[in-house]
Amino acid sequence: MPIYEYRCSSCGAQKDVMQKIGDAPLTTCPECGAETFGKQISAAGFQLKGSGYYATDFKNSGKPKEQCAPCGAASTCPMADGGA
Ligand SMILES: [Zn+2]
Repeated sequence: MPIYEYRCSSCGAQKDVMQKIGDAPLTTCPECGAETFGKQISAAGFQLKGSGYYATDFKNSGKPKEQCAPCGAASTCPMADGGA
């Protein structure tokens, strides 16, 4: 059974809730009672799906590509790839 990480945007309370797939998501915060309780898309959730490529993908895209020395542009600069 997957565990969902919930967080209240009102008071900031966090809670891991075990729910069946298809269960209605919780909306009421157990701490303050506000209807601002919602699921978080967390790394734990991705791991439960059993795919590791999210993490790798993140690492690659998060790291800036080598910048073009002459113009300082990102990877879109043609000089960045062919230069070095
Ligand atoms: Zn709350």
